[in-house]
Amino acid sequence: MPTDKLTPAMDGATCRGCRRPLFGKDYCFGGRAYVPDANGGFTYSEAKTNYYGGFVCSRQCDFRASLELEQDMPGHGYSQKSLGQSAQRSLENNWGLA
Ligand SMILES: [Zn+2]
Repeated sequence: MPTDKLTPAMDGATCRGCRRPLFGKDYCFGGRAYVPDANGGFTYSEAKTNYYGGFVCSRQCDFRASLELEQDMPGHGYSQKSLGQSAQRSLENNWGLA
């Protein structure tokens, strides 16, 4: 059995936005993760890193992951609908301007 094949593992990476499994090790182990091709093909795109840590598979997931965290911060709340400046800048670095 080839062991160098990319396969999802129990301690594997997941998207912080939608929790879908990605290929690669969990964020805390370092390294990179890859987002499986939506068409079930053999191409992978490298997962982006969220501003607060963790992998994200899409702009929406990146946004959601940051927003969820910021809403939990002191002085913030669930009425917050946009990201703080730093997280927003990270989002734009990852995916470009909306
Ligand atoms: Zn996702």
